[in-house]
Amino acid sequence: MEDKILIFTDLDGTLLSENSYSYYKIIDFYNYISSHCIIIFNSSKTYSEIIELKRLTNDNYPFIVENGSALYIPENVSLNIPGKITKINNFNVVQLGVPVNKIINFCSSKKLSKKYVSNCYFLYQMSSSEIVSLTGLNISEVKKAKKRNYSLPFIWRGSIELLNEFKLICQKNNFKILKGGRFFHLIGETDKGKALRALLSIYKQCHKNTRFTTIALGDSQNDKDMLIEADFAGIVKSESKSLMNFRRSKNVFISEKISPEGWKEVLVKMPPIKNLL
Ligand SMILES: [Mg+2]
Repeated sequence: MEDKILIFTDLDGTLLSENSYSYYKIIDFYNYISSHCIIIFNSSKTYSEIIELKRLTNDNYPFIVENGSALYIPENVSLNIPGKITKINNFNVVQLGVPVNKIINFCSSKKLSKKYVSNCYFLYQMSSSEIVSLTGLNISEVKKAKKRNYSLPFIWRGSIELLNEFKLICQKNNFKILKGGRFFHLIGETDKGKALRALLSIYKQCHKNTRFTTIALGDSQNDKDMLIEADFAGIVKSESKSLMNFRRSKNVFISEKISPEGWKEVLVKMPPIKNLL
């Protein structure tokens, strides 16, 4: 039996610095881990944003976009994918969420518009300069962040009570609202945990003689679902957010440092990674 480690990692505030969106401070450690483990980016970022980062990491691992909405599996990775797949560029894509036009249709229903949707300030309604000042991304990165296929990020301008009502209505209609680092995200009935399970099951089916250990790393509420799913959970401390409450205590590691150093800090504490060092 072979052993293989799958690391599902969030990007902003977890692997990438919240301010510089870079991981250069731990690049040697990252490359070492990447040569021994399969590192899966599991982010609210879009395909266009992640593909840009992949130019730096230069690996051939699958990744997950827009909060668990789709799995992108490179064509030359030998995984048999059950069910419906779409081919986009050099990837086999498994859709778990719903296309963005369905979400827009849902939001444009009259009853919703008045009470709830009018309190949502959607990313697509913001000017590029506004997004630059909100996120610290540059103009070309903003363009990539706006190319969304499965999700509508927004800033909520109403009360918490109203937001909770809106969340329930979304649930009843098979949509979901998740809280990311900077935005709320309106998506289909999916999350990062569901995407972790879907990809892990593809790996397991194709590699029957491999024992997979899963690690998940995150910093925000929208990472909770994957942190719960994984054998080992690493929570990276955030500069801007309070530490998420996390009920499980077994195999949970919390960093003292922020990203990207916090990414390294939680991993080196985990027994399966210790064995590699
Ligand atoms: Mg994050």
